[in-house]
Amino acid sequence: MQVLSVTPEIFPLIKTGGLADVTGALPVALAGKGVTMRTLVPGYPQIMDAFKKKKPVHHYPLLQGGKASVHAVQIAGLDLFVLDAPHLFDRPGGPYGNATGADWPDNWRRFAALSQVGGDIAGGAVSGYQPDIVHAHDWQSAMTLAYMRYGKAVGTPSMITVHNLAFQGQFGAGIFGELGLPAAAMALDGVEYYGGVGFLKAGLQAAWAITTVSPTYAQEIRSPEFGMGLDGLINMRSVDLYGIVNGIDTAIWNPETDKHLVSSYTARTLKARHPNRTAVEDRFNLDRDDSPIVCVISRLTWQKGMDILATVVDGIVARGARLAILGSGDAGLEGALLAAAARHRGRIGVVVGYDEALSHTMQGGCDAIIIPSRFEPCGLTQLYGLRYGCVPVVARTGGLADTVIDANEAAISAGVATGFQFAPADAGALLHAIRRLVAAHANPAIWTSMQRQGMKADVSWDKSAEKYLELYRLLLSKRLSDA
Ligand code: ADP
Repeated sequence: MQVLSVTPEIFPLIKTGGLADVTGALPVALAGKGVTMRTLVPGYPQIMDAFKKKKPVHHYPLLQGGKASVHAVQIAGLDLFVLDAPHLFDRPGGPYGNATGADWPDNWRRFAALSQVGGDIAGGAVSGYQPDIVHAHDWQSAMTLAYMRYGKAVGTPSMITVHNLAFQGQFGAGIFGELGLPAAAMALDGVEYYGGVGFLKAGLQAAWAITTVSPTYAQEIRSPEFGMGLDGLINMRSVDLYGIVNGIDTAIWNPETDKHLVSSYTARTLKARHPNRTAVEDRFNLDRDDSPIVCVISRLTWQKGMDILATVVDGIVARGARLAILGSGDAGLEGALLAAAARHRGRIGVVVGYDEALSHTMQGGCDAIIIPSRFEPCGLTQLYGLRYGCVPVVARTGGLADTVIDANEAAISAGVATGFQFAPADAGALLHAIRRLVAAHANPAIWTSMQRQGMKADVSWDKSAEKYLELYRLLLSKRLSDA
């Protein structure tokens, strides 16, 4: 089976978020299951620099304002089509904006171009290559499915994965004339959205199947509260809507081999976590004692519920836990958390910044990790927590709800609990969960059992890749039954 993936990010070449982890991991996880996945990506400088140009497999005299070509290459073990379009992608800064983080004003043009090329390849533009299925990701490649629908590839099954519905690619109606789509596409059931052009909306409308990164988030986005204005359309498409939880890289996130840990360990040697715990105490200037250390590793934003955390820090200390916080983001939240650390010396420690190595040490040394997100399409830190015996305390939403088994009485007596869930995402519910955590931590038999259960959970890509494969098969059978 040949699948064409179209994405603005792919790990390890270009990454701003979880989307890149998924698009980088899927081809590898699917390779052993009979799927050949080729990925179309923009020719950002870091990608163009990673290969030597040969003869392009496709050429555009004019693509959204300049010359462009498509190169078929292998980089870092990934089969790629790279869209070389210097006028669109040869720029400093990140994939979407300049070094100060401001979006490029022509992002619509950049990602319309990527999508048009995706549609062209789906329609047979590269000689000798015909994908059976096209899989797009987020608004930046969503228009691929519109170009397919209004072009040659209308009969090729397509799928879109939504990694975060908050980002939709919404632009003014004035751009429509430059997209190269037929006039009929500017319609309610096409690309039109609130009088403008909606890239993600167009993809959701055209896709044969829609997936998001957890079953619970797939249901949540059908409601006005989580649907971000698209809930009406998503409800209309609900028969074709699926949720598949992300996996993690279990080679990089492995407490048995993790080089960032002071002391490696397994589920059978949990006592060997202790030196990591001491390292966390030292790094965060925490008292050395037996009380639980709960950590936070997060962007400091409203979505992540970090304002809720900031209001309960005193209550967490009062309930006997210590707090180690690593994060950056909202300046007001950074200030509030630093002030809390100053108020509670030895009980709360804060490191402002992004520190990959420290995040590993924390998962390997802290007792629990708090994730009070208001919404969370999938979430990764709870999966790392499970794998490292760092018990997750999570808001019951999205992927958090799907991956953590709450330590209620039934789950504890059955020995299957892996963490604590709370709802709603507010101060009272979070503090209640902390109280349950402190009580459970005081009972070593229960606590160790929870850690071990979490470490046993299958958080690898294998299971998720199997689910994507099932869906690809379903789409292929639809094509055959349509033919
Ligand atoms: P999101 O992508 O919405 O920020 P996820 O939980 O899906 O949330 O992924 C966040 C990733 O970023 C995780 O790998 C987490 O460990 C990492 N991370 C977040 N903040 C920090 C930080 N300050 N330092 C190091 N790693 C961080």
